Amino acid sequence: MCRHLAWLGAPRSLAALLLEPEHGLLRQSWQPRRQRHGTVNADGWGVGWWSPAHAEPARWRSPRPLWAEASLLSVAPHVASTCVLAAVRSATEGMPADETACAPFARGRWLLSHNGRVDRAVLPAAAWPAAESVCDSAVLASWLLEDPLDLAGRVRTLGAADPDARLNVLLADGDRLLATTWGDTLSVLATPEGVVLASEPYDDDPRWSDVPDRVLVTVTPDGVALEPLELP
Ligand code: GLN
Repeated sequence: MCRHLAWLGAPRSLAALLLEPEHGLLRQSWQPRRQRHGTVNADGWGVGWWSPAHAEPARWRSPRPLWAEASLLSVAPHVASTCVLAAVRSATEGMPADETACAPFARGRWLLSHNGRVDRAVLPAAAWPAAESVCDSAVLASWLLEDPLDLAGRVRTLGAADPDARLNVLLADGDRLLATTWGDTLSVLATPEGVVLASEPYDDDPRWSDVPDRVLVTVTPDGVALEPLELP
C-alpha cells in the first residue's frame, strides 16, 4: 500500500507538507505507522501542485525512494501552493517499477493517487489506451479521470466487480479534493489555514480524525463533507 496526502488551503511549501512533519511522507517512505499492506514505500514517489498562472498542475515523479531525492529536498522549501497532492509508493507485486507507474496520474486539471490494488480485468478496455502505465493504479486512474465527479459511482461499481479490491483514491483539481476509503486508512486534519487528507496522520496533532471505511470525502474552501459509499 502506498501512502498519499493532499492539501487545500493557504499557500504551504512542499517541504512543510511532505518533509518536515515528524511522520510525514518522507518518514512514511521508510517507517509508516498505519500501513496494513506492505512495509516500506521505497518504490518511488510523486508530487503535483497548482499555480495561479497555469490551469494544469506541475508534476514531479521518480522511481527512487523519496529519501534519496537530494534535489527535491533542496527545492521543496522554495515551492508553495494552495493545492498539493503527493504519494510514496510500495509497488504491488507484478507491477512495473518505473516513473510512469508512480502517482500522481494526470489528466487536464486533475491529479489522482491510488492507495490499494484492483484486478485490471474488471477495468473497462476503453481505459487502457489513455493509461500512463500498465500498472493497475494507472489504468484505474485513466478510467476515473474520464469523469472525476463520478468517483463514488465508479468506486462502488469496481468494489462490486472485484470484492478483493482496495480502492483508497485521492483526487484534486486545484480547487477541491476528493477521496474515497475502501479498504485502507485515511485521516483528515482541518485547521483554520486549510485541510489535509492523508493515509495516516503526519504528526500527533489532536485535531486529526480518522475517516471510516467506505466513505467519499469532499474538501472545498467551504469545508469537509463525508458521504457513505454503499455497494450498488
Ligand atoms: N497498486 C499500486 C501500485 O502497484 C498501488 C500500490 C499501493 O497502494 N501500495 O503501485
